[in-house]
Amino acid sequence: MSIEEKVVIITGASSGIGEATARELGSKGAKVVLAARREDRLKLLQDSLKKDKIESSYKVVDVTSNEEMEQLAQFTLDQYGQIDAIVNNAGLMPLANLSKKKIDEWNTMIDVNIKGLLYGIGAVLPHMRERKSGHIINISSVAGHEVMPGGTVYCGTKFAVRAITEGLRKEEAAEGNNIRTTIISPGAVATELVEHITDLDAKQGADALYDIAIPPESIARAIAHAIGEPNDVATNEIIIRPTAQE
Ligand code: NDP
Repeated sequence: MSIEEKVVIITGASSGIGEATARELGSKGAKVVLAARREDRLKLLQDSLKKDKIESSYKVVDVTSNEEMEQLAQFTLDQYGQIDAIVNNAGLMPLANLSKKKIDEWNTMIDVNIKGLLYGIGAVLPHMRERKSGHIINISSVAGHEVMPGGTVYCGTKFAVRAITEGLRKEEAAEGNNIRTTIISPGAVATELVEHITDLDAKQGADALYDIAIPPESIARAIAHAIGEPNDVATNEIIIRPTAQE
């Protein structure tokens, strides 16, 4: 089993990297379960996938709710009987210096980027451990490798994604559960991510960097590569930047 016939949950599937990943995996024969908050966008994507003969389902989910993430896993099992992989992709990047004290944005980033990802792992892990098979793909960032001014909290969340994924890898490998983990660390990718920056200084800096951004399909291909490897091969991390990104 490579990608074909695999059942893959994708959070943040309503735009950007999540949407591109659904198209890429679907085009390779995966059944994709689309999750995000904007139902209209999920429905549009499902209709478009259907035209390409790609099997998909969607569920409106806020990843900051553990209950909703558990329901997403159960929904997937009810639909398809198995979960082969989850792409914990939902995330937000409202950049601003700490001195701006945007406490609501700190809380949201921590809730979505860290807690949402943990709930995603927690929701699928029992099933994967029982099957002794599964793949957990977590979207970090180049910002999970280096801290940039204005990105202090965002970088903190993306460093956390890498720490959590590596801890998960070691725990599951030690118990022989055959669960693959992959950290995907993109550089600048042309999506809606920068649109949510409310701080004008940070927005100007991001807009300058995003001039060289690469399309989300570049990241989707890397995710497909990791999933498509044989089950005894874990691609533990991939960094993908625009060639021109310093
Ligand atoms: P987008 O803004 O296009 O996509 C973000 C997705 O996250 C949307 O589908 C959004 O859906 C979803 N989302 C946000 N909050 C929630 C929530 N509470 N519950 C469920 N879904 C939520 O940006 P990207 O595609 O760029 O971002 C995807 C991931 O890639 C993020 O984790 C981001 O940090 C990471 N990344 C992006 C980079 C880039 O340059 N674009 C670089 C490095 C990493 P909805 O609003 O419908 O809920």
